[in-house]
Amino acid sequence: KSRADEKLRRKLHNTIQELKGNIRVFCRIRPDFSSPDGLNGNVFNLPPGTDNLVEVKSPTIGSFNGEASIKKTAFTFDRVFGPASTQEMVFEDISQLVQSSLDGYNTCIFTYGQTGSGKTHSILGDLKVPSQRGMIPRTVEKIFSSIQELSEKGWTYQIECFFLEIYNETINDLLNTTSKNNNNDLKYEIKHNLENNVTTVTNMTVVPVTNPKQVYELLALANKTRSVAKTLCNERSSRSHTVFQLKLTGFNQQSSERTQGLLNLIDLAGSERVSRSGVEGKQLKETQAINKSLSSLGDVISALANKEQHIPYRNSKLTFLLQNSIGGNSKTLMFVNISPELKDLQESTSSLRFAAKVNSCELGVARKQKII
Ligand code: ADP
Ligand code: MG
Repeated sequence: KSRADEKLRRKLHNTIQELKGNIRVFCRIRPDFSSPDGLNGNVFNLPPGTDNLVEVKSPTIGSFNGEASIKKTAFTFDRVFGPASTQEMVFEDISQLVQSSLDGYNTCIFTYGQTGSGKTHSILGDLKVPSQRGMIPRTVEKIFSSIQELSEKGWTYQIECFFLEIYNETINDLLNTTSKNNNNDLKYEIKHNLENNVTTVTNMTVVPVTNPKQVYELLALANKTRSVAKTLCNERSSRSHTVFQLKLTGFNQQSSERTQGLLNLIDLAGSERVSRSGVEGKQLKETQAINKSLSSLGDVISALANKEQHIPYRNSKLTFLLQNSIGGNSKTLMFVNISPELKDLQESTSSLRFAAKVNSCELGVARKQKII
């Protein structure tokens, strides 16, 4: 691709972003592992010729005139990725957003959805299989290659990496190896500098990085820190939010211009409703913490989308941490990840509704259709 193409693309992207008010919602449906081709057409339908529409077909109970009928509900998003979509296709659509953090924008990319819907696959993927690498490794590589190009125009960048987890409304430093994730003696406090809109977390490990390999080593390290914690709590990864951050500080020797952008890639806790009976003790506490932060996140984004005066950032650790990365000049993208399986239909529908609310999308084009 030529530079002119790239420039035009960038300009177009910025225009679209301005029109959209900097909040976008994408939907991604993972393959159905129970069907041979992975493309289950029974629960969701992606109408041909569209790339932003998903129809949910829910079988209705009973029949009319002896014929079963199904009701369809349609949701529109800024983009819908079907089960056949690749990691590369997904990254193609976010790479401009990623690059804008080099121009000094704070950006946030979230994956939202029930456990098993493809959040971690989308955000991290399999680092060892090139085609399966997710948004984090692709972002890291894009950032470093862009920096190389920008150096021809006099720019130098300093990149710093943070990796943390929010579990039960408590922050853990995933890059802190010394305390083995036991943060009893360390206090992680979120501080906002009102003058420059920069957020810091006290005591958080910050690692300067100069190439992708260093970042991958940090990811492996974080994974280790997490597995230590995992033995203490089953399925910890689905009960906590993982926040990967790159702080990008640029300086142009020719113009003395300075930029600072924070790029956040966030794997949210599983959104499944655990309101089912029998949840108590630690599990209840976890569930309450997850519900609190996910609903706070939804409230923050919809308050921003509706241009409300008061944005309730302070209602959860997650939203408070991201106060300077969602809203204002920042760019936010939420992926709603969906399982195509019939057994997950209720959770999928509830995720779609959440995401639609977040984006103030159109909702509820219902019509009846015969099952052949
Ligand atoms: P979550 O993080 O939402 O709990 P995962 O990302 O771990 O879900 O996905 C569950 C399983 O499905 C994993 O084994 C993952 O590799 C696989 N998976 C998810 N999405 C895709 C996809 N688009 N293509 C292939 N495999 C996928
Ligand atoms: Mg996961």
